[in-house]
Amino acid sequence: MPQKACRVCKVVTSDNVCPVCKGSELSEDFFGFVIILDASKSQLAEKMKIKEAGQYALKIR
Ligand SMILES: [Zn+2]
Repeated sequence: MPQKACRVCKVVTSDNVCPVCKGSELSEDFFGFVIILDASKSQLAEKMKIKEAGQYALKIR
């Protein structure tokens, strides 16, 4: 399964539905990859408005 990134919350998943926002606006065309282990302690997570641990794309086209 190709990895896809949610256009809304940037989470990377191989499902057809975003596990975070339950939306289906997923794109296979994304760049960069960050793993957030603890969203409450990560400045990057704060900047990207990420609230849950997981894998996220930096840029989605
Ligand atoms: Zn989402």
